Amino acid sequence: MNPQRILIIGGVAAGATAAARARRLSETAEITLVDRGPYVSFANCGLPYFLSGDIQKRSALLLRTPEGFEGRYRVQVRLDTEALEIDREGKRVRVRGPEGEAWMAYDKLILAQGSNPIVPPLPGATLPHAFKLWTVPDMDRLQRFLNEGQAKTAVVAGGGFIGLEMA
Ligand SMILES: Cc1cc2nc3c(=O)[nH]c(=O)nc-3n(C[C@H](O)[C@H](O)[C@H](O)COP(=O)(O)OP(=O)(O)OC[C@H]3O[C@@H](n4cnc5c(N)ncnc54)[C@H](O)[C@@H]3O)c2cc1C
Repeated sequence: MNPQRILIIGGVAAGATAAARARRLSETAEITLVDRGPYVSFANCGLPYFLSGDIQKRSALLLRTPEGFEGRYRVQVRLDTEALEIDREGKRVRVRGPEGEAWMAYDKLILAQGSNPIVPPLPGATLPHAFKLWTVPDMDRLQRFLNEGQAKTAVVAGGGFIGLEMA
């Protein structure tokens, strides 16, 4: 019998946990995890604390590398790879990655794409000095701007826990 193919879309908290759990449940499954971003399993919770200097090593935010994930869980990780379309009848997902577009076949599909901050449709919301904070690249952009020393004042839009931590 062919091994079961488990395909996971999204590689942060939900996707990475699902991959690790799937491996614990099956020694033989072929598990593949794709994420459209450049990192797998990073600690979003630490992003504000890296910007404040409380966390000093950027590498402390990157909980696992693709190699570490593959070595420990035998999960194939494909980064910078975006899921574009699900063909449920054919049990396959169309993805676009560094090598172009391809269809990936699955027996079980796990969707773990998470969410994104709401950027309100306000004038100026897309200007280069307006930032969102959800991923490591978001944090890097904000830190580059802070390092340039141009910021004199700041407005945090959104008073949830992320906004409060940033303030
Ligand atoms: C700054 C910050 C601080 C936080 N602090 C805390 C905290 O202290 N405590 C707490 O409990 N929670 C905290 N959270 C929330 C927590 O990080 C989220 O609840 C958690 O990341 C959700 O995980 P997720 O895997 O569901 O989704 P996400 O983290 O959103 O990850 C989804 C992944 O899916 C990928 N993806 C999306 N669409 C596609 C596609 N079509 N193809 C391929 N990949 C795709 C994305 O690139 C992303 O990497 C914080 C979040 C942030 C941003």
